[in-house]
Amino acid sequence: MKEMSPLEEIRHSAAHVLAAAVLRLYPKTQLDIGPPTESGFYYDFDSEIPFTPEVLLEIEEEMAKVIKENQRFERLEVSRDEAISMISEMNQTTYKIGRLEDIPHGETISFYRNGEFLDLCAGSHVSYTKKIKAFKLLHVAGSYHRGDSSQKQLQRIYGTAFPTKEELAQHLARMEEAKKRDHRVVGKDLGLFHIDEQVGQGLVLWKPNGAIIRQELEGFITEQLNQQGYSQVYTPHIGKLDLYRTSGHFPYYQDSQYPPIIHRECLEKLAQEGCTCSELSNQLEKGEIDGYLLKPMNCPMHIRIFKSEQRSYRDLPVRLAEFGTVYRWEQSGELNGMTRVRGFTQDDAHLFIREDQLQDEIQGCLSLVKMVFSTLGMNEYRVRVSLRDPESDKYVGAPEAWDKAEEALRKAVHSLGVEYEEELGEAAFYGPKIDFVVQDVIGREWQLGTVQVDYNLPERFDLTYVGSDNQDHRPVMIHRAPFGSMERFCGVLIEHFGGNFPTWLAPEQVRLLPMNDDLIPFAEDCLQKMREKGVRASVDGQSAKLGAKIRRAETDKIPHMMIIGKREAEEDKVSIRSRSNPELDGSHTIDSAVLAITQEISTKSLPKLRASVS
Ligand SMILES: [Zn+2]
Ligand SMILES: [Zn+2]
Repeated sequence: MKEMSPLEEIRHSAAHVLAAAVLRLYPKTQLDIGPPTESGFYYDFDSEIPFTPEVLLEIEEEMAKVIKENQRFERLEVSRDEAISMISEMNQTTYKIGRLEDIPHGETISFYRNGEFLDLCAGSHVSYTKKIKAFKLLHVAGSYHRGDSSQKQLQRIYGTAFPTKEELAQHLARMEEAKKRDHRVVGKDLGLFHIDEQVGQGLVLWKPNGAIIRQELEGFITEQLNQQGYSQVYTPHIGKLDLYRTSGHFPYYQDSQYPPIIHRECLEKLAQEGCTCSELSNQLEKGEIDGYLLKPMNCPMHIRIFKSEQRSYRDLPVRLAEFGTVYRWEQSGELNGMTRVRGFTQDDAHLFIREDQLQDEIQGCLSLVKMVFSTLGMNEYRVRVSLRDPESDKYVGAPEAWDKAEEALRKAVHSLGVEYEEELGEAAFYGPKIDFVVQDVIGREWQLGTVQVDYNLPERFDLTYVGSDNQDHRPVMIHRAPFGSMERFCGVLIEHFGGNFPTWLAPEQVRLLPMNDDLIPFAEDCLQKMREKGVRASVDGQSAKLGAKIRRAETDKIPHMMIIGKREAEEDKVSIRSRSNPELDGSHTIDSAVLAITQEISTKSLPKLRASVS
């Protein structure tokens, strides 16, 4: 019997109650399966009745009755023949017989009964239905039997359940909050980015407002990199297939890449020879035809930069950084706004180091991440350290080198006082790594980037440096893209801030609101003063009531409004209304207002972040 956590038992039991309720209301329904999920449960049904929101309410009511009856969950272990006749008696042969056949011979076959309902099920369950104290049906989605689109489409009812009503209410509030913060919605409302069918799925167009946020972030990260002794480089978007054959990215990962670009002459020649597609891909894989690949990874190009000069032990570490754009072929079903895309710009860097520098360099990477996270108010995050499986021999690099690297990773993480967990056997074959998982203000976790040690590519590219002994030595490489990509990171930030960016990141930092048209010239003067100090501001010169202008600025999530009335203009003053403080502050001259705002920008101070749910 598979052990479930107490919460999973509640949720899985709720799934059985759901199926029981559906059968009471719609006895002809055929059941498939109903497991617990990370945040609730679902059950897949084959029914002629479309499960509309009204029907869901009806089912919920019936579920409440089943729970109130306080039925006992009873486990029955049976033989295969008994199982078949039980399924037949329940008229559930369409899917359940197939599910029964999935159970390997010799394994226990069990059913769970509650009231009149009986389901083929490994368990486990709560003891009585009344233990399901709080549940809710959420929505219905189409789902194919066994996830196979050639099979019949079923109706999947999603729901969730909790041990207490309070926890359920909190969860629902969090879902509501997440919907409001959805980066696809906020990104559209604030003009941050656009994905255009004609450009291509998964390819992000950064609109002017989004471009400002990205520039600010890149500038901030670059500043940190400069302080840590990184060198910026630029590399092209395509490279020869041969480069990626050397690195191993082609042909092994070609399913996740855009297809290669082949010379026109070569294509024409192949066409004349009547070459078929499979012959072409064969020749490409073998290297008989060359071509180019849209860059799936930046590393090979940074490696060629390292290799373009002779390096001595004194030159190391060499730290090459680039906001490098790469292209990956994600399945269209996997694409999601900015967080799952086909073209993205990594905050990438490659460090070429001596073994004795490993710990310091890893520590440097971590302190950069810590700095950026704390600046953005992401104070809840954890670190995963992926280590090798000591039983396996699939790893490249000497075991002693791995021991040292793993120890260096541990020490680096430890010295930063970051919470971390070690995962044995999760390392790539070419080196141990560190992953970052941040929690946003509403408690959702986002996996961002990695710091990865690599013993493989230095071998494949035969990288060397001259040691103090005048001999050639192999450097170790570190790949690090701590925020993953600018697209994903911005998507996460949009949801984290709900569009209410701190002033230094806000596309428009100040909006000037003249109370009537006569005051526009004074507002324009103020605007000029702000622009001179680098503040991003605009004047709302439309003829509208002040109230309407304020509402518009609020919808646009502008951190500061400066209201200009007749009295203000006469006294050379402005009244400030801030997002964090809607009380009008009339104490500022235009100069002192500009000073206060530039200070807020330069210290990168954070807006009040806490969401209404915790
Ligand atoms: Zn079950
Ligand atoms: Zn890399």
